[in-house]
Amino acid sequence: MTDALTPAERILYGLGIRHPCEIDLEAIAASRGAFVKYQPLDNCEAMIAGSSKRAVILVNSNSCETRQRFSLAHELGHWHHHRGKVLYCSSDEVEETKPGPLNPERQADGFASDLVLPTYMFRPIFAKLKRFRIQEAAEIAAEFNVSLTATLIKCVELNRLPIILACYRRSGYSWSRPAKMVPSWWRLHRTLDRETFAGRMLFDGASPEAWPRKMPADAWFDFRGAGDYEVQEQSVMLPGAEVLTILTIPENGLG
Ligand SMILES: [Zn+2]
Repeated sequence: MTDALTPAERILYGLGIRHPCEIDLEAIAASRGAFVKYQPLDNCEAMIAGSSKRAVILVNSNSCETRQRFSLAHELGHWHHHRGKVLYCSSDEVEETKPGPLNPERQADGFASDLVLPTYMFRPIFAKLKRFRIQEAAEIAAEFNVSLTATLIKCVELNRLPIILACYRRSGYSWSRPAKMVPSWWRLHRTLDRETFAGRMLFDGASPEAWPRKMPADAWFDFRGAGDYEVQEQSVMLPGAEVLTILTIPENGLG
């Protein structure tokens, strides 16, 4: 069992942590020689300063609790992977500017995601779901005390459903994450179609749909023949005037 675990999961597992409510990040930090302080920070979400054995992690007290947790977990990722460096972090769970597994920020984000949403706890909860909608993801997010966005990204990474997460602002495309099983030709438009349910929420203030709704795929996707497919979409508004959508690709579009 422990062979398949990531570094962050091995730490949790080694501490005997088996349930979401047991993921006490400050206690985990203390067990790693890191002391956590909360204070207002102007230019970053968190930072870490340490010698070879002990570290102080500062977390922005102005941010919401789920953000603080992710930032703290991100700094613990630096403490694990990049010990001895002083780093100022935005620790955004969807940062896309500098991709690549060897980028220190991506590495710390991956560690953070595994620490707050370890797959060995997440997978069995996900497997028991009878259906997958925003509501179910929000319940899991609450159980782990993490953001809905971080939870949905974990769902995508599990690669059990043919889904793409897509986030748009009024000005256009913001970021997306496809499940591995989705072929790369499912390329999103750079601007959001106002006739999609997401478009109506973002531009017209429409209420969210309780269930995924069908939509011609060419409203969302930019490839020849997109109009032959139908996708399902369900959306939620995020802080900062962004709309986040779960798009489900039909089975005949996975070949
Ligand atoms: Zn960082």
